[in-house]
Amino acid sequence: MKMKKKILDILKRRGIVYPSFEIYGGASGFYDYGPIGSRIKHNIENLIREYYVIWEGCFEVECPTLSPEKVWIASGHVKNFTDMLTECLKCGESYRADHLVEEHLGISCEGKSIDELYELIRGNEIHCPKCNGTLDRVYHYNLMFKTEVGHPGKIWYLRPETAQSTYLAFKRLWEIGRKQLPMGVLQIGRSFRNEISPRQGMIRLREFNQAEIQFFVEPEKKFSERFHEVSNIKAKMVTKDEKEVVTSLADALRRGIIKIEMIAYFLGRSIQLFEEMGIKRDSLKLRQHKDEERAFYSSDTWDIEFVSENLGRIELVGISDRTDYDLRAHMNLSGEDMTVNYEGKKFIPHVIEVAYGIDRPFYCVLESCLVEEKERTYMKFPRRIAPYLAAVFPLVNKDGIPEKSRGVFELLRKNRVYTLYDQSGSIGRRYARADEIGIPFCITIDYDTLEDNTVTIRDRDTKEQKRVKIDEVVDYIVKV
Ligand SMILES: [Zn+2]
Repeated sequence: MKMKKKILDILKRRGIVYPSFEIYGGASGFYDYGPIGSRIKHNIENLIREYYVIWEGCFEVECPTLSPEKVWIASGHVKNFTDMLTECLKCGESYRADHLVEEHLGISCEGKSIDELYELIRGNEIHCPKCNGTLDRVYHYNLMFKTEVGHPGKIWYLRPETAQSTYLAFKRLWEIGRKQLPMGVLQIGRSFRNEISPRQGMIRLREFNQAEIQFFVEPEKKFSERFHEVSNIKAKMVTKDEKEVVTSLADALRRGIIKIEMIAYFLGRSIQLFEEMGIKRDSLKLRQHKDEERAFYSSDTWDIEFVSENLGRIELVGISDRTDYDLRAHMNLSGEDMTVNYEGKKFIPHVIEVAYGIDRPFYCVLESCLVEEKERTYMKFPRRIAPYLAAVFPLVNKDGIPEKSRGVFELLRKNRVYTLYDQSGSIGRRYARADEIGIPFCITIDYDTLEDNTVTIRDRDTKEQKRVKIDEVVDYIVKV
């Protein structure tokens, strides 16, 4: 728990993330990304973009976060996107029935019905944790935020996932993509779920960020031409019957542990991606969904989880075979034909979905990168993730040193290097502040600079200092 407090402390103090609406008392499940956090978040998103838009050749789209009721009737969310709640008859507090039963009896409630849960609550005399009152019958509570659009109002919902809005324009994307399969479409954006009582800080948010990729494929061709590039990656896997295996993706596929090559491929790519973000590889675990937690239409679903020292298991990405379920559902309700004619066959494409959270990887990057040494604490962010690549410090605020420092700062800015200028406090304090937000290079301008046009560049990780000519500063920090 010690580390968690340390991270939370740095998060708030350094403007990384902090609770929203603080001046009005705050609300759980909502966070602001501050000046530093926004930079890191964009870097995480851009890394995902690079993987999928550049390497996988995906399109990127952005759709509205609000959508009409019909979308969510078709997708099944109006009916099925629910938690099971029970209310205290005495004080009125609501609880997730499955969580209450799990906490009291230490059993898994995965797949239990509302009646089974109510029986367990009654049979084991589970009462309201707050006032010991009697708990009411268990009911389904829809997690979507409902609103009205226009006047007179029609029911609309804030999206609980980006995927559906991507599917709606499938036919248009099909034309734009020159009718080729597989076709990948990335969407990065906000989604919403009205959790009854989110408690785990950034891990369970009511408004959150996602990066979801839908790969439209031929029903019989769920392969990847580039599987060999990741097939030797070894990983800890937990299978749907809770067996732990450590093996390569190729072996897991051969033995039928992972059923679909495309899923194995994107598990491999995701491991590489998380590692590039700075998440520790040995904290990652691949977990197969059990039969009862997997959507009924899906033949196989895998998550990659981060095993947190503070917060337990954190799901970072879910990769699943959604078959033609969603396109077919929208075809049925909207009447729009979603079939394609492809290489002499007529069919509705299947979808392999790769669904990343952003906020959770963000937290895991922080936990993985935090280094505590005797005399300092720093964030060992990979350069691609760090909020700024460099910080510029004038040694003193007189004798022409600020002017010279501004010159170096401008030089970096002209070269489009994200740079922070910090002139307050001792150099030691400035190093400490830069370390806490993981800036890789600190550049100090001193009296020697006025003489010979060199500066001191200090490396965050090694604390080594080098004297470098101003003309070579940009090359130095971009190349090192
Ligand atoms: Zn109560």
